[in-house]
Amino acid sequence: MPKRILVTGGAGFIGSAVARKIVLETAHSVVVVDKLTYAGNLASLAPVAHDPRYAFEQADIGDSAHMRQILERYQPDAIMHLAAESHVDRSIDGPGAFIQTNIVGTYSLLQETLRYWRSLSGERKDAFRFHHISTDEVFGSLGETGFFTEATAYDPRSPYSASKAASDHLVRAWHHTYGLPVVLTNCSNNYGPFHFPEKLIPLTILNALEGKPLPVYGRGENVRDWLYVDDHADALLLVAERGKVGESYNIGGDNERTNLVVVQAICGILDEVAPDADIGPRERLITFVADRPGHDLRYAIDAAKIERELGWTPKETFESGLRRTVAWYLANRPWWQAIRSGAYQGQRLGSSETKLAGAA
Ligand code: NAD
Repeated sequence: MPKRILVTGGAGFIGSAVARKIVLETAHSVVVVDKLTYAGNLASLAPVAHDPRYAFEQADIGDSAHMRQILERYQPDAIMHLAAESHVDRSIDGPGAFIQTNIVGTYSLLQETLRYWRSLSGERKDAFRFHHISTDEVFGSLGETGFFTEATAYDPRSPYSASKAASDHLVRAWHHTYGLPVVLTNCSNNYGPFHFPEKLIPLTILNALEGKPLPVYGRGENVRDWLYVDDHADALLLVAERGKVGESYNIGGDNERTNLVVVQAICGILDEVAPDADIGPRERLITFVADRPGHDLRYAIDAAKIERELGWTPKETFESGLRRTVAWYLANRPWWQAIRSGAYQGQRLGSSETKLAGAA
């Protein structure tokens, strides 16, 4: 049965991948709800914007009256909640927006969702799902060995991860206390097309392409488990449709790489597909800079549960996904040139030297 899925944060990196997938690869329809912060970009939804199964509403998830109107108007069968402030470095410079959107905003959305869900009856009420999308960063930092499982204790270390951990707890509480049918997912670092160029992979691709310095925090030894964004979107749709109510699922690519290895891999691909005699071998552009305060050493996901219970495995390897990503940035210059020429031009954030904007 085709469903109507409301996707919060659907103009962002992962949300737009989910929205495009819903329209292009399923019979469902999608309502994107997004505040359009600096990270939200309607150009990322252009491939589906004219489809009759797509709708867009500009709204803040924390605006209860507006969200109530939207829920009443569209009567969704499921909500996939991705809206968030998502960049760790920004959370160090200005945690206030993270508390506001990720915690207070999720609380407001849960209240409006509960009110809406209670208005449903019969099969529609039973089938309704609230899917909360979260991060593996809630589990804290690993040493050299071990993996995060769904049973790992929460131990968030940054304002970003603490705000996401708080939102996870709220979502579980609304399930246990009020019976709201929720599912949760905690995913590792994503990369791929339409990624805002403040994050490591797109920033490195664009700086390397332009022959600019490639900043690497510390000695580049921090390890992340990388997942191609379309693989994440597949997993999310599977969990939204078939995940067990009240359960959470870890999603990861089994692709652990140090930041230095990631940056070197991008240099290698660009030297091959976009050689530039003036720039020369791009590894020469790597510049080690002061580490991020409280930088978690290693994240690694054990994704056995989602594979065992829902049959999900990623399609891309890190090498194939990275090649696709580099090719996308080369072929889609207007998308990122509009961002690079605007307010954000790739400057350093989160060194904590910037004044803390606690209440901002
Ligand atoms: P993003 O920053 O690219 O997108 C976030 C979107 O949310 C933007 O379009 C923004 O405009 C919107 N938004 C922000 N505040 C809002 C508000 N108050 N009301 C409505 N919309 C608002 O983030 P992303 O990388 O696509 O991440 C999406 C979700 O997935 C987040 O919840 C994040 O915590 C989670 N996640 C991200 C990663 C990753 O590697 N990027 C990994 C695991 C989980």
